[in-house]
Amino acid sequence: MLDFQSILNTISKVAKEQSDKGSVANYIPELSNIDPNKFGIALLDKNGSLYQAGDSNESFSVQSITKVLLLSMVFSMIGDDLWNRVGVEPSGDPFNHLSLLEMENGIPRNPLINAGAIVVSDILISKLENPKLEFLEYVQRITGDKSIDYDLKVATSEKKTGFRNYAAAYLIKSFGNLQNQVEDVLDFYFLSCSLRMSCEQLVKVFYIFMNRGNCLNNNNYLALSQVKRINAIMLTCGFYDEAGEFAFEVGLPGKSGVGGGIVALLPNKFCVATWSPGLNEKGNSKLGMLALEQLTTETGLSIF
Ligand code: GLU
Repeated sequence: MLDFQSILNTISKVAKEQSDKGSVANYIPELSNIDPNKFGIALLDKNGSLYQAGDSNESFSVQSITKVLLLSMVFSMIGDDLWNRVGVEPSGDPFNHLSLLEMENGIPRNPLINAGAIVVSDILISKLENPKLEFLEYVQRITGDKSIDYDLKVATSEKKTGFRNYAAAYLIKSFGNLQNQVEDVLDFYFLSCSLRMSCEQLVKVFYIFMNRGNCLNNNNYLALSQVKRINAIMLTCGFYDEAGEFAFEVGLPGKSGVGGGIVALLPNKFCVATWSPGLNEKGNSKLGMLALEQLTTETGLSIF
């Protein structure tokens, strides 16, 4: 029997001792105030047992991790029609790159790069009466935690400085792949990225991707084939242009965000979340990647 608690304790201790923790993202000014010494890890197994170490209860800005939740909501609503608006191939480029968008006629490569999440946001705005509230309630419902909320300061900060996202959205609009006004779409997209969650809350929401579309309370949110597709997209596209490296080192589908969070999962076994705000040069949490590599190497548990 694996002793997850003692493995997490060791991982957390090793992480806290590292001197090179990477650099905190500063292109969204409000994110640059975070203490780089934070480190948290939480693991939830299929039976609902929760293991935690370090700052696992402290909430942080999930940023790009929200893209998986936007994807899951829209996919459960419109099914495979989604793939007329966005592709499923890795981009091999940073999350905010624009050149492929121009070459591929405004159809973003996948839903986990900014351009893709912007298109997904556009669809949600068209389909939902009150997208901001309904998306938040969706996340709260899956997690069973009504305390989860947006961080308006972070959203406002990004609204003032998210020039590349404006550029991407206008480019997509010029190709006719955005139905709503750019301002409205980005207003929703930035707010969704500002969701604050802790490692503990993240493993609870990602439980549905680990447990065949069912949450901890056994309500169903996704068909099995949809879970398969979302996990495949996380594996191939979840880590900017470092998805290959993450599969190589860690061997799990997952998603990172520039707030320093990473969530990953082994289908039917466990999901795990880490938080360490310092990023590597590719924009992924430096110690989060190290911690997850340690976890899957030590336990021998990965999809490979
Ligand atoms: N809101 C951020 C952006 O659009 C998300 C980036 C990320 O976490 O990768 O730039």
